[in-house]
Amino acid sequence: MSERASDGTHSKGVTAFPDHGGLLSRPVLVLNRNFEPLNVVPVRRAMVLLLKGKAEMIKPADGLALHAARQTLPVPSVVRLMIYAHRPPAKVRLNRRSILLRDDYTCQYCGYQGPGLTVDHVIPRDRGGKTDWDNLVACCTRCNAKKGNRTPEEAGMTLRKRPRKPAYLPYMGYAKLMQALRNPDWHDQTDIYTRVYFSDRPELFFKATLPRCSPPFGEIGIRSDSTFTATEPEVAVVVGDGNEPIAFTLCNDVSAWDIERENPLYLPQSKIFLGCCAFGPMLVTREQIGDPYAIEVTCRIIRNGTVIFEGSASTAQMNRRFDDLIAFLRRNNPIPVGTLLTTGTGIMPPPEAALREGDIVEMESPQLGKLVNFVRQLPPP
Ligand SMILES: [Zn+2]
Repeated sequence: MSERASDGTHSKGVTAFPDHGGLLSRPVLVLNRNFEPLNVVPVRRAMVLLLKGKAEMIKPADGLALHAARQTLPVPSVVRLMIYAHRPPAKVRLNRRSILLRDDYTCQYCGYQGPGLTVDHVIPRDRGGKTDWDNLVACCTRCNAKKGNRTPEEAGMTLRKRPRKPAYLPYMGYAKLMQALRNPDWHDQTDIYTRVYFSDRPELFFKATLPRCSPPFGEIGIRSDSTFTATEPEVAVVVGDGNEPIAFTLCNDVSAWDIERENPLYLPQSKIFLGCCAFGPMLVTREQIGDPYAIEVTCRIIRNGTVIFEGSASTAQMNRRFDDLIAFLRRNNPIPVGTLLTTGTGIMPPPEAALREGDIVEMESPQLGKLVNFVRQLPPP
C-alpha cells in the first residue's frame, strides 16, 4: 500500500486554533515511514497530518502548545508518516547556490566561511574545465584571486575534498535537506542513511563468506525472524591489487530490512545469513565493460508467474566512485585480490514486494547478463 505525497494535505481544519505568535508557521520536519526526511512543512500542515491520523508525533517543540476552546495540543517539531510515501527522487539542479550548499558555504581551498563566496572552476574553463559538479567548488575571493587562471597544482593549492555530484536526493529538495541536517532540533532525527550520503566516509560492511552465497539459479534465503526481507539489486566489482576494479558482475544483496530498521546495531544480522548474497552469472573485465558508470540494471520479482515488482537503475546514479569505495575498503585493511565489493542500490522494492517462499528474483543487465534466483524461507531454529 502506498500513499502519494501525503504531506501535501490542505491546511483546512486547524483554523479553530488561533495563531499565537506565528506558531502555525513554524517549520516541522516530516519523516517518511522509514524515517527518511521527506519535507519541511509549517505547523499548520503538520497538525492536519496528526489530526487526520496520517502522521505520528516523533518530537514535540519544547514547551509550545496550541490552545483552542476545548483542546490543548503540543506543537510538533518532527512528525513521521504512518504510511510509506513513494515519490520520485528530487532532481539536483546545478547552479551557484547548489554548489555553495553542497560545499556548506565553505571555501574549498582555505576553509573560509562567510560572505563573499564565489564559485571556482577547478580546471579553468579556457583550459578545458567543464561547468559541472566535478569541476565547480565554493571559493573565497582571496583564493579565487590567488589561483587565477591556474589549476590547483600549479597554484600550490589543495582542495579540501573532491567535488562530486550529489546524484540522488531521497525526497527533499537539497536546500531543505541541508536546512534539516543543520537544525540542532532535527539533527538526531534525520536518517542515518541520509547523513552517510553526505559524508566522505561511505558505509562499508562485511556481507558474506562463500558458503552463505548463492550461484545463478541457486536459492536466496528469508530469515525465519524477518517479515520484510528485500532484494537489493547491485553492481559488484572484483577488487584487484589497486583501487580500480578489475571486473564487474551482478549481485543481489538480500537484506532483512525490518531487522536493520529496528536498530542500526542489528545491521550484521540483517545482512548475514544463509543465502544472503547471490552473484553472477559472469565476470566482465574493466577492459570489456565500457563505461562503468553507464551499467543498467533491471530487477523483477515474480510471484506465481506474475511480475509483482519491476525497477531499474544505472550506475550513473551512484553517489560514489568505485575507486573511492575500494580505497576506503583497503584503508589500513588487507583485502585479498578477488574480493567482491558490492555497491549500493538505486532500486527500493516497496513492502508489498517483501520476498516470499517460491518467489523468483531476476536481475538483468545489457552489460552483465541475467542473474536468476529462487527464494526459500529458512526454517525456524
Ligand atoms: Zn579561500
